[in-house]
Amino acid sequence: MKKQTVAFSRQSTNLFFHILTRCNLRCAHCYINRDQHGSNTLSLETIREWLGIFASKAKDTNLIFLGGEPTLHPDLASAVSMAGSMGFKSITIDTNGFLFHNILDNITPDQIDFFSFSLDGVSKGINDAIRGEGCFDAVMSGIGNAVKKGFSCSMIYTVSEKNIHEVSKLPELVKDLGISRFFIQVVGLRGESEITDAKHQVSKSIWQDIIPKTAEQIAEQGIIVTYPKVFLTHEDPFECAANVANNYFIFPNGRVYQCPLCEDFPFHSYEIIDNVLTPRPKINETNFFSLQIPEGCVMNKLIQPGNLSYDDNGFPRYKIACCMLKEELQP
Ligand code: SF4
Ligand code: SF4
Repeated sequence: MKKQTVAFSRQSTNLFFHILTRCNLRCAHCYINRDQHGSNTLSLETIREWLGIFASKAKDTNLIFLGGEPTLHPDLASAVSMAGSMGFKSITIDTNGFLFHNILDNITPDQIDFFSFSLDGVSKGINDAIRGEGCFDAVMSGIGNAVKKGFSCSMIYTVSEKNIHEVSKLPELVKDLGISRFFIQVVGLRGESEITDAKHQVSKSIWQDIIPKTAEQIAEQGIIVTYPKVFLTHEDPFECAANVANNYFIFPNGRVYQCPLCEDFPFHSYEIIDNVLTPRPKINETNFFSLQIPEGCVMNKLIQPGNLSYDDNGFPRYKIACCMLKEELQP
């Protein structure tokens, strides 16, 4: 098994493209904030224009269709075809499992790289308490149907204090599911979430006791596992992805962020105006990315400092890594 920290790459670009914010669910930790991100659904023509902004770099660009629930968009299948003909390096659809508009029948496995299913509990009780009644069954049958049709599938598990106790059961759950990638995420304190307090995030000791070990057990089953580093020692190098990589978080009201932690604030770096990616005047998130602080991520310190801890001299006990810094386990 190979374990590596995935370095940020200047060469590749990631487009996290929220084509609508509408959703059939109201997950407890939903990061969508309609006041900040809009409640409109992009037309297929606008999706084409906005993808066109990045088309010259398409072969180096990973495209992730997001929502809300992206399969609620009636033209998602056409958007996927469009992105395919523009030559994007990879195309992923993140879904809550409900797979609206018969999406599995309207695209083919060679058109996308992954369907990524969100599940936040190993038991129906915990998952559905967080994500909503019927979600566990929707994800399980959605994965089953997608795998049967030949789609590559991955799973995303967002860890909070509500479901950390079920993490150790994940290797058993995913055993015969047929997924090929597994992503562990840490819950964010943003959006229309009920989870607005740092007490819902998992402490350093619990994270480090449970996550790496479970990730290894999942990887032993032939599944590539990715999880955020979260905590760094003072000796570990710190980098802010926004300074060294190209990540664009695009929302249907035209806001484009480089840092997901900023998404609750009008701090976006760019705005798409008349189908042109337009840098925004000061002050915006870009004015913060170069600040060096002993706590590591400056936005973490400003926005969700509850995960920091200080010694008696007021010095941080560890640094918080960029939320996009990942460990990857290759079976
Ligand atoms: S987290 Fe995703 S699936 Fe859940 S309510 Fe928000 S947009 Fe919908
Ligand atoms: S999470 Fe922190 S380190 Fe990462 S892009 Fe945002 S500000 Fe930079």
